Formats: sequence, structure tokens, C-alpha cells
Amino acid sequence: MLNLILFGPPGSGKGTQSEKLIVKYGLKHLSTGDLLRSEIAQQTSLGLEAKNFMDKGQLVPDAVVIGMIRSALETNPDVKGFLFDGFPRTPAQAAALDELMELKGTSINTMLAMEVSEQELMIRLLKRGETSGRSDDTNEEVVKARITEYHNKTAAVADYYHQFGKVVTVKGEGSIEAIFNSLCKEIDQKI
Ligand code: ADP
Repeated sequence: MLNLILFGPPGSGKGTQSEKLIVKYGLKHLSTGDLLRSEIAQQTSLGLEAKNFMDKGQLVPDAVVIGMIRSALETNPDVKGFLFDGFPRTPAQAAALDELMELKGTSINTMLAMEVSEQELMIRLLKRGETSGRSDDTNEEVVKARITEYHNKTAAVADYYHQFGKVVTVKGEGSIEAIFNSLCKEIDQKI
């Protein structure tokens, strides 16, 4: 299997690049943000709980997202690989993912970490808020809270994978095609 993590701060372009990567490499896209928004749209109890955190720009509790990933892995037994997007977002989520992968007899190959300047992130997220319909993109305070959560809790996930030599960094600024090509180059070196 080819199991990749696309990592980076909110607004770094993970969603955009994921759409292209899953087509090229035939992977199953697992975005916890998308899964959570779908739970909210269906008004499930999980969705209602998650919404309270997401509206404030805070991370949803680990147990909630880990449970969601566990069931997503169970419902996709025969795929070529997974592309994780927006997950893991804490070291505890990373450790849980390693365990879940091991249970499937597989592992994470590489973490692709996209780097984008803070200034560019704010511009992109507020611009996306004008069209995405995502309430967490329209409010500057919520956008800032998400970036703070990223620094306080999520950035450490890169350290977690660094210890296994699994991190490659890719510049997340430039054209969508140029960034996609850099990501593919890194992936092709691993497979
Ligand atoms: P972005 O990366 O642009 O902030 P996402 O769609 O990945 O957007 O996530 C939106 C929100 O969903 C996050 O701000 C957070 O509240 C919640 N969320 C998504 N993935 C996770 C996760 N793995 N752990 C905790 N919360 C998450």
C-alpha cells in the first residue's frame, strides 16, 4: 500500500492538492475536516459535538477524530492506499494512526509537509471564506485561532514523523501545478 499524509497549516492547500494526488496515485482520500463537515450536515450527535469546537477554531477531541478514522479504514478494506489530509493533527492522533496502520499490516510511507508563510495563509483563508460557505473561514478571529491551534498542537506532529525519517517538506507557494509537481517528485522517489 501507499499511505501518505499531507501536512500543513490551515490554508496551505492540502485539499486542493489532495484532489489531484488521489487521481494520479489511485488513493482513497481521508480528510477529517470533510468527514466532520459531513457529520454536521447530517446532524449526527458526533457532528453536533464537533461543531462546537470547529466554530471556535479549536481542534475536535482526539477520541472523536480517531474513532472516525478507525471506521473509515474499516469501510475501505481493499484500497491501494490512503491519503490522509488534516489528520493526524496531534501527536496522540499520530500514535493512534500508527497502531491502526499496523493492525492492517501496513504503515505510513511519507509525510509531505507543505510550507506557506503566515501572511499568505491569512490572505488565502479569508479569501476562501468569501466563496466556500465555511463559517470558520469568514471570521478573522476564528482563522487566527486555527493557526494558533496549529502552532500549539499540530506542528509537533512533524517532529513525531521526523524521528522515523518520514518527513519531506515542499514549498506550498507558487502555482497549483508547480506545487503538485513538487509533491509528485517526492512521492515518486519513495515508490
Ligand atoms: P483547515 O485545514 O483549512 O483548517 P479542515 O477542513 O482540515 O480545515 O478542518 C476544519 C476544522 O475541523 C478544524 O479547525 C478542526 O476544528 C476540525 N478538525 C479537522 N481535522 C481534525 C483533526 N484531525 N483533529 C481535530 N480537529 C480536526
